[in-house]
Amino acid sequence: ATPTAVMVATGVGANNGVLIKGGDALERAQKIKQVIFDKTGTLTQGKASVTTAKVFTGMERGEFLKLVASAEASSEHPLAKAIVAYARHFHFFDETATNDAQSDNQESTISGWLFDVAEFSALPGRGVQCFINGKLILVGNRKLMTESGIDIPEDVEKFVVDLEESAKTGILVAYDGNLIGVLGVADPLKREAAVVVEGLRKMGVRPVMVTGDNWRTAQAVAKEVGIQDFKAEVMPAGKADVIRSFQKDGSIVAMDVITAIDLSRKTFSRIR
Ligand code: ADP
Ligand code: MG
Repeated sequence: ATPTAVMVATGVGANNGVLIKGGDALERAQKIKQVIFDKTGTLTQGKASVTTAKVFTGMERGEFLKLVASAEASSEHPLAKAIVAYARHFHFFDETATNDAQSDNQESTISGWLFDVAEFSALPGRGVQCFINGKLILVGNRKLMTESGIDIPEDVEKFVVDLEESAKTGILVAYDGNLIGVLGVADPLKREAAVVVEGLRKMGVRPVMVTGDNWRTAQAVAKEVGIQDFKAEVMPAGKADVIRSFQKDGSIVAMDVITAIDLSRKTFSRIR
């Protein structure tokens, strides 16, 4: 960039709340060949909400939701918050269940309505497990079920696949050794996500999505936002390795920069 371009860009950046550290940062930004986006909270709003809860046994719906919420109550994961909010809403307000309950409008954290939980543990990239009424409960993805020796019946598998193909995350619930139900959770795309992705492509930058979520959901979200390249089922600890593997070919990799990219895109187009 010319000194004038740097000055203009730095000024425009400042006006938009972006600090551009002189020509060096701008030169580097222009060399970016690919941008890696985290799915959850970067491309998506990070506001998950339960859209479906299906019980596959004779268990009463309220009992099922109370079990699942009790298991998830100690988890900080956005999926857990969505499930607890949904179950609380069902428990206190609406026996027909609605989609109003969202993770970001929990009016309180009263937990008196939940079961007591023993030996809780959060399993990164998998879900949670604990004991309720002396029986083991598992809430999470297929990997969690498979690793714990839980059989996934065909009708349950089909239900989960259908959720995933419509960009939702299927969360499986096993209690006392049996698969008892499934919840579907949606996390809508950010409004600007598709525009940013399209803008990057026009600049010659390759957008890539990385997620811990399952392959089918990842594919549906990637398609919705216009990304061809994605890596799914990446464990939390594995995300750094994925970035390093992209850096190997000498290209500069940027992550979690949806707003910054959107602003710099405007900046670059103004100084070009
Ligand atoms: P990301 O942040 O990329 O979406 P995470 O590593 O946070 O991925 O989670 C990956 C997957 O692990 C989730 O899609 C879900 O299937 C499962 N998981 C993680 N934590 C929980 C939880 N508390 N309850 C249910 N499932 C969970
Ligand atoms: Mg995460």
